[in-house]
Amino acid sequence: MPIRRRIPALKQRDLYQIGVNQELELIRFGIMWLGIKSGRWRAAVWAMLSCLLLPSLAIAGEPPRSINLASLPADAAFTPALEIATGIDPSALPEDVIASANELGFKSAGKKTPQFSPREGDVWLRFTLTNPSLDVQSAKLALRFPYLERTDLFERRADGSLHHSMAGSAVPITGAAIAAAYPAYHLHVAPSETREYFIRIRSSSLILLPVTIASEAAFAQRMTMETLVWSLIVGAALAFAIYAASMSFTTANGAFRIYICFALSAALYILLSSGLMNALLGTHVHFNFARTVFFTQAMVMAFGTMFIMVFLDMEKQAPRLYRIFYLIAFISVLTGISFLLPAWIGQLSFVIATGLGPIVVVAGLALMSASGVSGARSALVAWLPCLLATLWIYLRIFDVTPYLPINHFLLPLAFAFTLAYLSAVLGGQVRQAEFWANTDAMTGLGNRRLLDRICDLENRQTSERYATAVAIDLDNFKPVNDTFGHAAGDAVLVAMAEKLRAHFGGRGDIFRVGGDEFLILGYHWQSRMDIITQANAFLQAALTPLQFENNYISVGASVGIAFLDHRTGFSGMLRQADAELYHVKSAGRGGIRISDQRQRDRRSSEPVVFAENDDTEERVAKMFGTSQRR
Ligand code: GH3
Ligand code: MG
Repeated sequence: MPIRRRIPALKQRDLYQIGVNQELELIRFGIMWLGIKSGRWRAAVWAMLSCLLLPSLAIAGEPPRSINLASLPADAAFTPALEIATGIDPSALPEDVIASANELGFKSAGKKTPQFSPREGDVWLRFTLTNPSLDVQSAKLALRFPYLERTDLFERRADGSLHHSMAGSAVPITGAAIAAAYPAYHLHVAPSETREYFIRIRSSSLILLPVTIASEAAFAQRMTMETLVWSLIVGAALAFAIYAASMSFTTANGAFRIYICFALSAALYILLSSGLMNALLGTHVHFNFARTVFFTQAMVMAFGTMFIMVFLDMEKQAPRLYRIFYLIAFISVLTGISFLLPAWIGQLSFVIATGLGPIVVVAGLALMSASGVSGARSALVAWLPCLLATLWIYLRIFDVTPYLPINHFLLPLAFAFTLAYLSAVLGGQVRQAEFWANTDAMTGLGNRRLLDRICDLENRQTSERYATAVAIDLDNFKPVNDTFGHAAGDAVLVAMAEKLRAHFGGRGDIFRVGGDEFLILGYHWQSRMDIITQANAFLQAALTPLQFENNYISVGASVGIAFLDHRTGFSGMLRQADAELYHVKSAGRGGIRISDQRQRDRRSSEPVVFAENDDTEERVAKMFGTSQRR
């Protein structure tokens, strides 16, 4: 292990940088878990991790016994040499505990990040600061675990008096405490003084002690960085909640409503568990933020499970699993209101909801994914990081996994991933459903529903995106069905859609608005000549016979064209195009008629026919000479 051997040579500084041991633990752990067999792999992983860790190893060393604040570098943030006493009677007076400190058996903390069960009683820490300089020196003390409900700092001054400060997730801050996401304190030492500090820790959940002493600059930098990271995660969760809310207005998919609750409770959980809410309100509010964390965690689990049940339509697709999921959601809700229930129910339901629940949910998703339930795979991918993060953190309680500063971010990051992934999946589903609801399945053109919606929007406030309407109806199409069969009719319709795309694509949006009726909404104003030329070219192409099985089928079309007129509006334009088409039909089919505003203004009963494709009729007659054209 060459990296370890290099450490003594570099052990010049009397500071112990936090994180070094945890990172080494991670290397060991990573190698163990990767189950690396080949030497090549092992070398690659070592090389990769070493690149990441060498800079911090370079300043590694033993923690100092007594911290000299005068020699604290500007960027220092380290774990002090802590002495710890556990199992202290919570009813003992602090003065008595401190007075008999030497008999209580404070022991040096072996592990870098000590962890205790609150059942053993209060945990006390002791450390000493010195300031041999002639100036007042200061630093910050942080217990970087937001769940600690109450911490008390006792500073023994030179005259023997005790100065008391308090911070935690269930108490307002007092004395030298700082309004931060986790308990933190100002430390000031007068010139030429040595001060002894005692910390009392009281919490009903696990007690984890990532204690650091940091210079003012290092503390400010770390706080800003952590607040930024948390804000980004919370911001992402809120953004997805807003996204889901906006989607829920346009779709009938009920999963979105539950998804909003899921995203909001995830955002709240992150705000509370990170300590951000505590930092924001802790100075004024005497409120147990630690307890609300468990409530929101249970809500996240309940809404997450309920979302999966609705999203995958489990009631129909996996009825047996549905009942199990139902139970997990119910137990999660029970956990949320556990403060109203007997303690044992609360504890049991909490273990099921936050420990067993995610495992069962992921196993259920894996089962459904294996049996081909649609959407189960996406849900599995979305939830897997949450399960892994939960497992990693739970195993920490049994000291199986190492303590790493990133542990605090793992579950919120996993939630953010779940939200992002599910939002993408749900958004995709909605877009797909929306697409097919607006598309004619046979030709791939826009359908009547889409046209109606556009009509609705344009009538409310015209976008002037469309200024031309071209209404087209195939001539004598029914006989094609009657003679060659419905399949032949369909083939003609598909071929006609292709021809429409070739002639009008890029110049307008094309719709199939009925059986053999089409409509083109042309973009912007086009000259009459242009549009007549286009329509003419289409009519020629429409007549090109289509081979279907052993027959050649040719169908003509009639065309009516109208322009947007601000007096009659968008609907008026469509009506006018239909009216022109109707005129062509009644005049014998196979032609183009274009509306003339000037004539209509003069209330002429006979609008001018601008273009009538005379030879079309003739060619149609020739091609259809036999059965189709009568
Ligand atoms: P006109 O010249 O007056 O337009 O008469 P037409 O024979 O074209 O008949 P019309 O436009 O009045 O009716 C359209 C016919 O199209 C009615 C129906 O039999 C047929 N049709 C409607 N939808 C489909 C379809 O999806 N596939 C097929 N093959 N035929 C359809
Ligand atoms: Mg027709």
